[in-house]
Amino acid sequence: MFDLNNIVRKNILKLSPYSSARDEFKGKGSIFLDANENPFGHLNRYPDPRQKVLKEKLSAVKNIPAENIFIGNGSDEAIDLLFRIFCEPGKDKALTFGPTYGMYQVSADINDVELIQIPLNDQFDLDESSIENISNIENLKLIFLCSPNNPTGNCFNKNYILKILKTFKGIVVIDEAYADFSDASSWKEQINTFPNLIVLQTMSKAWGLAAARVGMAFATTEILAFFNKVKPPYNVSQPNQDAAIAALSNFDFYNKNIRILKKEKVLLKEKLEALLQVIQVFPSEANFFLVKMEDAPGIYQTLCQIGIITRNRSQLVHNCLRVSIGTPEENKELINTLKNIKTISI
Ligand SMILES: *Cc1c(COP(=O)(O)O)cnc(C)c1O
Repeated sequence: MFDLNNIVRKNILKLSPYSSARDEFKGKGSIFLDANENPFGHLNRYPDPRQKVLKEKLSAVKNIPAENIFIGNGSDEAIDLLFRIFCEPGKDKALTFGPTYGMYQVSADINDVELIQIPLNDQFDLDESSIENISNIENLKLIFLCSPNNPTGNCFNKNYILKILKTFKGIVVIDEAYADFSDASSWKEQINTFPNLIVLQTMSKAWGLAAARVGMAFATTEILAFFNKVKPPYNVSQPNQDAAIAALSNFDFYNKNIRILKKEKVLLKEKLEALLQVIQVFPSEANFFLVKMEDAPGIYQTLCQIGIITRNRSQLVHNCLRVSIGTPEENKELINTLKNIKTISI
């Protein structure tokens, strides 16, 4: 059985959180002399620590109750909070399936938590053998599943995710940073079925708001109570909250951009596959492709010199670049440039 109080760190269970000035007063204030703010200026007031307006907006767009939403300074903040809430440094462990998003490892290292990385199979997916021994790992508190996975682009097999959710007694985090580009249904619909499930999403990708640092965690109110206890009181700035509210209010812009990117994705795949240097374009449900090439590191360097920056992932998957879908013009430029790069003779 999953028992939340059993897996939260003892110091976090008994933590009394910082109570901010804006949290403490009840009623409707008109003169605020409680927070040592400067009474002059535009950004002079502390932001809403619970991001009430933004959560209501998100609740409507994502069709999930506001009380099941946590908002972080990017989903990277939520990832860090997960370690701090659930993992005793130097003792508890986390697990993920790789190659995957690098922040799980960095956050684990910062928090002095061992991150076990189980290799994905040759389709970059989970299978029977990769998940069979998980329940026997001692002090394992967190499992990170990135689906669609960065940098490979694919979603993981649903049945194996379900099996993990049903059998693992710790927290299962499904990172859906790229969910908006995928036709697969979101796991956030399942948070009340699986009390150990936390789903991460972000406004950094499909919503075009990477600069504003707005990430979300969807989970039961019981889990989110710990997030709210541990987070810095004013973790999402007012300009960032306002930018997110504005973006969520412009659904046409969001839809139009997704439509363009999906169309470009089909074109870019075709064009990439026709190139001599390209060995394989892996299937993707995200806004990027992992591309296997002859001499990927060399091509990466050459593209950099021309000013086209891709992500060299060759350390993770041999001879692979990760290429984001750009504007139609940018994608054309990329293809034309690649056409002109002489392949090093083999
Ligand atoms: C881009 C990305 C994020 C987003 O992080 P933010 O802090 O919200 O910008 C999270 N997870 C994965 C797998 C990503 O690729």
